[in-house]
Amino acid sequence: MSYDKIEVPEQGEKITLKDGSEDELEIPDNPIIPIIYGDGVGSDVGPAAQKVLDAAADATGREINWMRIYAGESAREMYDENLPDETVEAIKEHRVAIKGPLTTPVGAGFRSLNVALRQTLDLYANVRPTYYLDGVPSPVKAPEEMDMVTFRENTEDVYAGIEWEAGTEEVEQVRDFIEDEMGFDSTIHEGPVGIGIKPITEKGSKRLVREAIDYALEQGRDKVTLVHKGNIMKFTEGQFSEWGMEVADEEYPDDEVFAAPDSLWEEQDDIDIPEGAIMVEERLADAMLQWMQLRTDEFDVLAMPNLNGDYLSDSAGAQIGGLGIAPGGNFGKGRMLAEPVHGSAPKRANQDMANPSALILSGRLMFDYMGWDDAADLVRDAVEETISSGKVTYDLERQLEDAEKLATSEYAEEVIDNIEKLS
Ligand code: NAP
Repeated sequence: MSYDKIEVPEQGEKITLKDGSEDELEIPDNPIIPIIYGDGVGSDVGPAAQKVLDAAADATGREINWMRIYAGESAREMYDENLPDETVEAIKEHRVAIKGPLTTPVGAGFRSLNVALRQTLDLYANVRPTYYLDGVPSPVKAPEEMDMVTFRENTEDVYAGIEWEAGTEEVEQVRDFIEDEMGFDSTIHEGPVGIGIKPITEKGSKRLVREAIDYALEQGRDKVTLVHKGNIMKFTEGQFSEWGMEVADEEYPDDEVFAAPDSLWEEQDDIDIPEGAIMVEERLADAMLQWMQLRTDEFDVLAMPNLNGDYLSDSAGAQIGGLGIAPGGNFGKGRMLAEPVHGSAPKRANQDMANPSALILSGRLMFDYMGWDDAADLVRDAVEETISSGKVTYDLERQLEDAEKLATSEYAEEVIDNIEKLS
């Protein structure tokens, strides 16, 4: 496709699907990779991460040909719209891309661009690996026990939530329907009301859980925990868990994946599973939030609906040093968009101070997806080496004694030096 404002690099090849496959990629050694720097701190961390990823690619005999694409403020300046069609097309066409954060103002009239991107590209799994890097300050006693990967459903639940505002004609129509047609006549209090609907489908639940189980099998993990609030929301969150258990039970042999649908009230040691099999268990979301801190090493891969995933993955990120460090990626069939967990942090923007590690480590996840395992390991090791030598950005420096505070750009240079030393 030819683009209006996007400049396609002269060198480089497109990542494509392997012949006859729906999701396996052909990755050249010189891929074209679209990048959105993003809003706020995106203009600091975007270029910094780009340089680090270039260095890791170079050190492993490859070359990334970056293609700048635009969303949010930069798109408003160039296109007079927030999410130009050609940005979405460029990601679709090139299959693997990376983005910084995009601002979503609170209030009516502005749909989240992140949600729009994830839904339009059908990036149905938001994956956040949460692991400890030596030297990172943490508020918990044993942060090294944390090694979890969260799979958050990315296209439905509250992301596909339909809401009606209090005081509108529409909300009163919905209230009448619920009370008169559906028979819930004394459920909603009198007076102004806001009403929302959160759909959770069999398709959305099953493909997310399948993705989490496949990942656990590929990575030699022990357990997948389905996290939900099905004791209260039986027909949405409860159903998510039932469908997830069906996937585990019906789609894999028992000696590979063992579904434990009665695990909600059981200790894991009391559940008998075939030797070598991955257990798929279920836990309630509120209890999980405390267990993640109190019994961290019991959990491995978590799969959950959208809103639970939002809360739990941020909370897990806090245990290993906070948002400046936490990476993520959005996965669909044969495509991936890497992005950090953090937002645009407006008060830290354009000051060359934000921590680029989260975006750099999102790049590591992208390299993993591309099968560039050596480059991925190099990125991780170089970030860890930099932090453990006490050279850190402001967010970590304020929590450490005797650390040296570096600007975003200086920190990126340190990581690059370490890539060169380690390769
Ligand atoms: P945020 O941007 O993640 O920032 C919250 C705080 O986290 C910052 O003030 C800062 O803490 C710390 N932080 C975040 N990124 C950091 C980094 N790279 N280095 C160091 N510290 C970092 O959350 P928010 O303020 O709630 O959201 C701001 C905007 O971002 C909103 O419009 C929101 O909708 C959007 N957002 C976008 C995404 C996305 O694009 N995927 C995700 C989340 C939020 P201190 O103030 O303590 O330094």
